[in-house]
Amino acid sequence: MNEVYLSIGTNIGEREKNLQQAVQALMEHSAVRVKHVSSIYETAAVGYTEQADFLNIAVAIETKLIAREMLDICQSIENELGRVREIRWGPRIIDLDILLYNQENIDTESLIIPHPRMHERAFVLVPLQEIAPSNGIVHEKATHTLQAFNIEQEGVKLWKKVDSIEEFMGN
Ligand code: AMP
Repeated sequence: MNEVYLSIGTNIGEREKNLQQAVQALMEHSAVRVKHVSSIYETAAVGYTEQADFLNIAVAIETKLIAREMLDICQSIENELGRVREIRWGPRIIDLDILLYNQENIDTESLIIPHPRMHERAFVLVPLQEIAPSNGIVHEKATHTLQAFNIEQEGVKLWKKVDSIEEFMGN
């Protein structure tokens, strides 16, 4: 079984519902088991800054699928939830990225793992560290970045504390 970490973000519409629907779609997939969902963090947009704040979570899953198949699932969930790709780094209903796939390094045209920008993004690392504190790669990437940045200045705020998947889903 493969241990995979995803990052999910949204800044359009009912943001919490968008996150719940993405996790629901993962849970409904027969080849995916959702193991942990982080608290929800709110983050000011980076890059194209004339847009609403994001909500971000990290999710730990187990799957038999190879990384490429997992990317296909992430992209079909993005499409299902109606993501419109207009402005790069621009507003989005839902964005699912694969952060880690076991301890593997993958570098193909369609997929780079560990995710190439994760180490510089506090909004990815803060939720990831919450659900994977003892993961060696996370520790290595997070310690450096999170020491270098003042997280408050980076604009990563705890928006809703989440202690279980059921609580996250509102059950
Ligand atoms: P974005 O618009 O930021 O969601 O980027 C999506 C593109 O990044 C897709 O075309 C993917 O093929 C590519 N990509 C490369 N590495 C990853 C990754 N680790 N997770 C998700 N998408 C990736």
